[in-house]
Amino acid sequence: MTPVSSIKLSDEEKLHILQRLDRFRQWHSLDEKRYCLVCGEIITGREIQVIMGRRGNRSLRTVCPTKYCDAKPIEWVWPTDDVLITIAMVEAERNWLCLIRRAGRAMQSYRRKTTSSTISTTRFKPPLG
Ligand SMILES: [Zn+2]
Repeated sequence: MTPVSSIKLSDEEKLHILQRLDRFRQWHSLDEKRYCLVCGEIITGREIQVIMGRRGNRSLRTVCPTKYCDAKPIEWVWPTDDVLITIAMVEAERNWLCLIRRAGRAMQSYRRKTTSSTISTTRFKPPLG
């Protein structure tokens, strides 16, 4: 795979391209923000990369600035309150899961230290098939 390099464009040109390629949401300025559903990052029009399509197809494409994320414009939504709340909730959930996992690990080592021999290791196994 040949690395794709983004095309150097003036702000005005880039805005025009974004407006043309993003048929789903209007762009009024490169400072507008979008929430990428694929990588979960907030990106700005300025950060979005414009690249030339693959060989034989010289059309322009817009790509997410996040590494390894190849979201399409349809996956860039407005960071409205709803979206921001979702992000906050996902973030909180992640922290919560982290806490639970940490607590679980602490419990396990606690159990190992105290009641290692009393817990039966044989468990009911459902028949295969
Ligand atoms: Zn992305």
